[in-house]
Amino acid sequence: MAVAAKRIMIVDDSRTMRMQLREELEEGGYEVIEATNGLEAICRAASGAPLDLITLDIEMPKMGGFETCKKLRSPPYSKFICCDGGRQVPIIFITGNDNIEDRRKGFRLGAVDFILKPFNEGEILSAVNKILEEQGADAEIVALVADDSRVARKIAVGCLSREGIRVLEAEDGAKAYEIIADRKEQVDIVLSDVIMPIMDGKALCRKIREELSMVDIPVIFLTAITDLSELTELFRVGATDYLVKPFAKEELLARVLVHVERNRIQKQLRDTIEQLKEANETIRQLSMIDPLTCCYNRGYLNEQINKEIKRSLRYGSPLSAIICDIDHFKKVNDTFGHQCGDEVLIEFVKIIQNAVRKDLDWVARYGGEEFVIVLPETSPGNARILAKRLQSEIEQNPIRCLDKSISITASFGVAGFDGAALGEEVSPDRLLSMADANLYTAKQEGRNRVVG
Ligand code: GH3
Ligand code: MG
Ligand code: MG
Repeated sequence: MAVAAKRIMIVDDSRTMRMQLREELEEGGYEVIEATNGLEAICRAASGAPLDLITLDIEMPKMGGFETCKKLRSPPYSKFICCDGGRQVPIIFITGNDNIEDRRKGFRLGAVDFILKPFNEGEILSAVNKILEEQGADAEIVALVADDSRVARKIAVGCLSREGIRVLEAEDGAKAYEIIADRKEQVDIVLSDVIMPIMDGKALCRKIREELSMVDIPVIFLTAITDLSELTELFRVGATDYLVKPFAKEELLARVLVHVERNRIQKQLRDTIEQLKEANETIRQLSMIDPLTCCYNRGYLNEQINKEIKRSLRYGSPLSAIICDIDHFKKVNDTFGHQCGDEVLIEFVKIIQNAVRKDLDWVARYGGEEFVIVLPETSPGNARILAKRLQSEIEQNPIRCLDKSISITASFGVAGFDGAALGEEVSPDRLLSMADANLYTAKQEGRNRVVG
């Protein structure tokens, strides 16, 4: 059986306005009742089925919106118009005349929102949806009751709905399964009879656990069974708890609340753990990144280059590294300022990163203006070609900083191992010190060149 639509009362003296609101809200699946003035609103609110929300016009003959709101919120009327769970019915003011005094007054009287006339299509519906969803999210419990006996369902529904728990009903296991498969997280707890036609309670429970993978949702059996081995069998199919019929209503309610609460806390805990894991992972990744240039830092280099070497050794594939260092970088700082120096470093790294393979190669900051490019599956010969390309690209493309154009050059030391030569001892130190020695030579020989 489907859940009853939520009921909204529109209070407005304008027929056109009521029609417009009704149309929009009914389209959104709400049941709408109307009142043309405040007095009528109070009568209707106090006499009919519970309301989930009220929209109130401010300017109305006889009794205006504020007075109506005040009356609805105070005894004796407030007693009659509580919605499920004893909460107050949310009231939205709909007004053609927006001013701060009115708003203040309205909120003081307990309004949850103000909407200005004329409103755009969908505006009212989305405001209403939001308010009712938020309410549902933190307060409402939804229970699914599966029992082929109408009387048994009625007892459970009566006992639970009095406490503000929304109840979905199913007359057999198959119908219950359909409802829960459709709604999943929206259902907080399942109360099920054991023996039912079409699909019994045990099959329902097993399917909820296995096919829907809803391992945490509390499933409580309401059963006339008293045989211990049959009762323990219920736990084997995934029951959380059971209650033997006839049960005390207080006990049913107490168990429902305890299990729902426990499950919510557990879910919150799991969500928190998940968020912490994500935060930890972000921290871990950030701890490997150089904050200025956003390439890897020295810590990552030290750790990762070892892995690259091991992988090359395992597959007998080549591996190369290039160390590059900006020439006379001190002068850039001295001439253009430290801020421009930073900008040059950032752009320098971008140029390198654009020139290498995104999926395999990586760049790490080795020192102030010194960077290592690691090139897996690349022979020293090919690394040299890349270094030369970079050298001329950097030389030919001055870097813009503020309104200045800064020409730089860089020197490159290349080192690496061909796959075939990997028999010899290879270590991070050896690879990097070879590249470093070549960089030193490049500097010695006049800079702006590639050695190695
Ligand atoms: P060489 O051609 O021999 O490499 O000369 P150089 O001036 O580039 O090298 P040197 O090692 O003498 O100076 C490096 C300069 O880099 C000094 C230092 O202040 C600067 N530097 C290091 N890190 C940063 C940084 O993060 N930002 C800026 N703006 N400058 C930095
Ligand atoms: Mg330098
Ligand atoms: Mg240097």
